[in-house]
Amino acid sequence: MSTKSTGFVERFRQPEYTGENRCTPCTIVNVVIAAVGSGLVSFVVTPFGGAVLFALSLVTIYLRGYLVPGTPSFTKQYFPDWVLAKFDKLEDETPEVAEEEREPEQVLADAGAVEPCEQMDDLCLSDSFRKVWHENMDAINAEGTEKSDLGRVLDVDEDKLSFDEHDEALVAQYDGGRLGQWESRAALIADLAAAKLLENRYDGWDALTVTNQSRVLSGLRIFLESCPECGGDITMEQETVESCCRTMDVVAVSCADCDSRILEVEHDQ
Ligand SMILES: [Zn+2]
Repeated sequence: MSTKSTGFVERFRQPEYTGENRCTPCTIVNVVIAAVGSGLVSFVVTPFGGAVLFALSLVTIYLRGYLVPGTPSFTKQYFPDWVLAKFDKLEDETPEVAEEEREPEQVLADAGAVEPCEQMDDLCLSDSFRKVWHENMDAINAEGTEKSDLGRVLDVDEDKLSFDEHDEALVAQYDGGRLGQWESRAALIADLAAAKLLENRYDGWDALTVTNQSRVLSGLRIFLESCPECGGDITMEQETVESCCRTMDVVAVSCADCDSRILEVEHDQ
């Protein structure tokens, strides 16, 4: 494909509704609408016209995620939530938890990152971990080294790394492909700073799968006491958020000052 046509396609494409963000129910609804509409055109006008319309509709759905404007909210309204939840789960592609997968709490306890709290029956950050974690976060934040740090942690070429900021997410791209996603730059800084520490404090950190490492790191974010980016207070509240095709209740941890989302966990009723 020439660069010129890529440019055009890229401008037409809506990444927030395609690729990994594609909403399967919306796509199905739109393909059905396209088929019915094109069928009518073939019947009433000409079969050729219907075929062309159907082909154009499919290309549009492929590139833009949907054909009929407003489908995402329309789907949300008319499909029962349990159906949409099934699609969401499928699209998560949560890999089977492998046998060697370690529980985040266990990893953090073994690394001396968390320990039983002094005052209550819960887990708290250990003083030594808190100190170095914050020093690392301050350094990354001040020097803006998240790209080189991520390159080093994932053992990839930092020159091919780039960050894309969306409304609610920071997406890391590698060599044109999607590498990973964080809730915000603040969340990324917290993870990078913690990964640096866990490498040294947990034997076998490098042997954990990337998915397992990221479960541990996001679990650790619950223990943040101030925002890694602006130092603001951390708030935790229950919120309703919109995924591609449904709304759900989440427990949202965010910064009170800069509004950075630190963590978002789906709240099971
Ligand atoms: Zn903040």
